[in-house]
Amino acid sequence: MVTPIIDGHIHLHEFSDDEIREICWRKDLLLLAVSDDLASSRKTLELGQRCLNVFPAVGLHPWEVGDIEDVSSVLSEFAEMIRGSSTRAVGEVGLDKKFVPQTYEKQVPVFRFFASLAAETGKPLSIHAAGAWREVLEVLDELSVKKVVIHWFTGPLDLLEEIASRGYYIGVNAALKVQKKMREVVKAAPLEIMITESDGPYNYRGLRLGPHMIPEVIEFIAGTKGIDEEEVRRVIHRNFVSLFTS
Ligand SMILES: [Zn+2]
Repeated sequence: MVTPIIDGHIHLHEFSDDEIREICWRKDLLLLAVSDDLASSRKTLELGQRCLNVFPAVGLHPWEVGDIEDVSSVLSEFAEMIRGSSTRAVGEVGLDKKFVPQTYEKQVPVFRFFASLAAETGKPLSIHAAGAWREVLEVLDELSVKKVVIHWFTGPLDLLEEIASRGYYIGVNAALKVQKKMREVVKAAPLEIMITESDGPYNYRGLRLGPHMIPEVIEFIAGTKGIDEEEVRRVIHRNFVSLFTS
């Protein structure tokens, strides 16, 4: 059997029904489907029930935090969802000082809330950390979170060692086709901490990201590391599976 490829961070709920049908039944693809808010979290959980290859994650994206009025009632609904057995991971959650610095103060307690629930339940966290790479690691250390993927990691290269030493992973995004920084991260990081991802259907510089781009990411990693593609698939699959085993 061929090792399945991994899309370790996708907003599956944003794809069309036709696209979801196509993605959902593939035996050669495993996905970690993240959410942005309560409504998308409910939809993602439904997709997780329907699609055997989908690991559903629920969470509140840092870009959404600013618009929430009654934060505590929203968070208590999330707590119930995360403790439920159909939720396999927590995300997309995190801190963002790059795109939404104006809500940073409001983001911090929300991220701490999700990180503590991840620590409590042992479920992995899919983290958005744009412009707040170190800040995120400090919170994770303080709350002793064990299973972490820093999604679309384009932070300082000197953090890679810190990430690896904690047993955390980085998301290697399909945007590497057009994003030099992502390619530099692949060159600098060990394969043992990489998980491939699309962040689809996000549109990055005219590129509509999606799982169809993952094979190219694998090809790039293999070329950069000088190993064959099957070996890359095997290690990334192992990295992904380790998030869901204790
Ligand atoms: Zn995302």
